[in-house]
Amino acid sequence: MYKKVHLRLTALCAGITAAIMIIMSLGYLYVSEESLYKNQYNSFKNDINTITTNLEQQSVITMEWLSKMESQNHYTFFVLDNGTPFLYNQLLNTTDLSRQKLLVEGLEAYNEYFEISSSYNSSHLEFELYSPSNSQDYFCSVIEIHKDTSTLQVIIFSSLASLEKQITNQRILFIFIDTLAILLLFAFSWIFTGKLLNPIIENQKKQNQFVASASHELRTPLAVILSSAECCKNASSHELEGFLKNICKEGQRMSALIDDMLTLSGSDNHQLPVLMKPTELDTLLINLYEAFEPIAKEKSITLSLKLPENSIPLCYMDPDRISQVISILLHNAVSYTDENGKIQISLSYFKNVFQISVIDNGIGISDEDKNKIFDRFYRAEKSRSTKGHFGLGLSIAYEIVTAHHGTISVQDAPEKGSVFIITLPNSTKYISNMA
Ligand code: ADP
Repeated sequence: MYKKVHLRLTALCAGITAAIMIIMSLGYLYVSEESLYKNQYNSFKNDINTITTNLEQQSVITMEWLSKMESQNHYTFFVLDNGTPFLYNQLLNTTDLSRQKLLVEGLEAYNEYFEISSSYNSSHLEFELYSPSNSQDYFCSVIEIHKDTSTLQVIIFSSLASLEKQITNQRILFIFIDTLAILLLFAFSWIFTGKLLNPIIENQKKQNQFVASASHELRTPLAVILSSAECCKNASSHELEGFLKNICKEGQRMSALIDDMLTLSGSDNHQLPVLMKPTELDTLLINLYEAFEPIAKEKSITLSLKLPENSIPLCYMDPDRISQVISILLHNAVSYTDENGKIQISLSYFKNVFQISVIDNGIGISDEDKNKIFDRFYRAEKSRSTKGHFGLGLSIAYEIVTAHHGTISVQDAPEKGSVFIITLPNSTKYISNMA
């Protein structure tokens, strides 16, 4: 499904950008071709003005002058004296039939479309001409110079072949550049949209993993409940009590798991309820210490609490949520510490940051697992058998601490075991606002 979306997004992104680029380059081509054409036409006109002035001043037109003008400007010249071709043209026309045809076409166009006023001594007119005989475009100019009784007509052709070649080359270059740019655009859009989609795909994967793990975790207590209920049918009153106990226990397990999942899904939707208020963190830790001491004692574990000697400021936080986090850490510490072990809760305050540590000398966490234990449903191999642990505790702790703009991390304890460290910022500005 994502491949299709990826392709469509790429086509959309690249398509729109390519369309804009093509429109812009077509516009540029049009302007550039127009200016090339205008430049050539203007330079042709300037040349004709110069030639007309030269012709007016010259009393004799020599063959050298004509051939020099032709080769210098790449023009084709015809001179008619009272309608009769000048000797220069007579010589050339015998060998070059196409020149003769060009002259006829030029004069036909001139006579058909233009009229020259004879009130001036000299006049000239420029126009564009297509020659069917050699399939070429020309700028053509007809100069008429009236001298006494004779009329000198000079017809000049300038081929547009090189201009057209230049325009064609420019178009080919643009097609090449545009094609290359479109290919690059597609490649870039593919990578770009892929990067955009990556978090969505990752999220979807995580959701699928979450649903699969949740179903797996729910299946075990549900199976126990169903089989116990089945056994209840033929059980004696003594056995019945045991089965009902099982059903109750597994039901509570399911309920705890569902609570955890709801907390996480609330945090995913940014709806994790956090009721911030100024709290005495040391008092909160004392209460937790007192609640967990009997649990630790059951496993002959020594639980201790280390508080700062000086008084510390109030901490702006949700006391219930932070209690939940520390309870998760203490539950884990008790679960993963052998009998006669030691657990210490410690609090410090330094540079506007509260730091709470839960240190145990239990089984410890490998470096590989340290990166994964905050993932949902992750349990290290050696703790898989521990009943009542779903691998959600630390991910819930992570979400709660993050909602407080704090951090949670794990390190190896100095000798053996693990140290979980929570930092919470001192948001005194909130407290003063509330006061
Ligand atoms: P669980 O419910 O399985 O304890 P958690 O998310 O709280 O889930 O912890 C994830 C995993 O991290 C545990 O399964 C365990 O492998 C490891 N872990 C957590 N706390 C400790 C600890 N204090 N000592 C050793 N391993 C721990």
